[in-house]
Amino acid sequence: MFGFLYDYPSKATCSKKMSEKSYHVLKTTKMEFGGTCGVAAMIVSLPLTVYTINLACDKESCSITRLPKFPSFSYFFDVEATYIFFGWLAFQVVLSLLPIGEVVPGQPLKSGKTLIYRCNGFHALLISSAAFGLAVYCDVPLTIVYDKFYQILTAALVYSVFLSIALYFKSTLVANYKLAPGGNTGSIIYDFFMGHELNPRIGSLDLKFFCELRPGLIGWVMLNFVFVLKAYQETGTFPPALTMVTAFQTLYVADGLYFESAILTTMDIMHDGFGYMLIFGDLVWVPFLYCLQTRYLLEHPTELTWYTMCGIVALNFVGYYIFRSSNSEKNEFRKNPHDPKFANYETIPTVSGKKLLVSGWWGMVRKPNYLGDLCMALAWSLPCGLNALTYFYPIYFLILLVHRERRDGNECKKKYGSSWDRYCQRVKYRIFPHLY
Ligand code: NDP
Repeated sequence: MFGFLYDYPSKATCSKKMSEKSYHVLKTTKMEFGGTCGVAAMIVSLPLTVYTINLACDKESCSITRLPKFPSFSYFFDVEATYIFFGWLAFQVVLSLLPIGEVVPGQPLKSGKTLIYRCNGFHALLISSAAFGLAVYCDVPLTIVYDKFYQILTAALVYSVFLSIALYFKSTLVANYKLAPGGNTGSIIYDFFMGHELNPRIGSLDLKFFCELRPGLIGWVMLNFVFVLKAYQETGTFPPALTMVTAFQTLYVADGLYFESAILTTMDIMHDGFGYMLIFGDLVWVPFLYCLQTRYLLEHPTELTWYTMCGIVALNFVGYYIFRSSNSEKNEFRKNPHDPKFANYETIPTVSGKKLLVSGWWGMVRKPNYLGDLCMALAWSLPCGLNALTYFYPIYFLILLVHRERRDGNECKKKYGSSWDRYCQRVKYRIFPHLY
């Protein structure tokens, strides 16, 4: 769901043997992102992007053309902030280990193994939100998180780097069948970035599954809550625009966690290794960049007319409706294509035995779920008015999803051949009806 830079990795080069230990992950031959040099540049430039965009948007001004003021190096490090970050991480680890929530088998991996996952992310969100409320009630000075935003960001970044290094070393010690097909080139830098081991675990704690949806995503919601609290403490009110965007983003995260088991079928879990790209994306990029609009609305309160607000609320909920109903439609069809509710749906058979939906959402455009997601992304920035920097998320997301749609189309063409061509002839538009 929160793919960050996610894309389909290079074509897997794996043997087909089903016995786990005899399964052999071959060397990755095709590199993504410009190979070793490209990922080396990204290892450095991605954190710089997070700092630069945030520093370009402060209380004084928030402008794409303004050169951010970089404080001294020592400004970014703080012991208390480090405790806050690790305390948060430990809290989420404890919640993930609670014996509540469904226990779900993952998709069978190419090694033949099926891993088991406990899906209690939604419970973790509820408990975290209740703990936030309790902390407010007990006058815990939660706005310290706002005051030490950059220092907590730095703690998360340093931890991401250390975890990525540790997991890379760990991956050099594990059996070959545990490696990720997309991160097995032999280039240390490339494999470090893409992730060398597929599903590193500490006991029952699956590190990738845990990081994908918990500390960063719930952390993003908590950062937003802190901004709303800060605004309340300063003004005695809940600023409508800030509160509205916080509610939108909370709904988005809650949806992702409610349908947590859906992530088990994604390429992130099934195919991508757990390396710097996902670790940094999950723990730094998502929480500390996706909260840009809410931090902007705290520092630059925006007055919206009631009809503008209604329009934005409508856009968000239309987006959410398209996103949720199209994802559910496809998931339900994939789970049980014989469900009577699909009796009147038109489909195209494929060589693999699976069918492609040509009715419903999937007959309107090829990626209705991306359309819904993009409507929501826009609704989160519109309350910020015409400030270009606060449109970073929808613009970055549009580029990501356009690229992702192309790559998924190529994969479907490989899987379904002429059936996919027929589908594309029937459903001409990729994401935006009558436009693209
Ligand atoms: P999709 O949910 O779009 O799934 C793609 C797969 O669906 C295809 O490979 C194919 O797989 C199947 N499919 C495609 N067309 C049809 C059809 N007509 N009928 C039946 N099956 C079809 O993939 P994503 O994982 O990219 O997206 C999932 C959600 O996550 C989306 O809502 C997206 O917006 C969101 N997302 C969010 C991100 C974020 O950072 N916030 C990042 C990336 C995604 P098969 O045939 O093998 O079943």
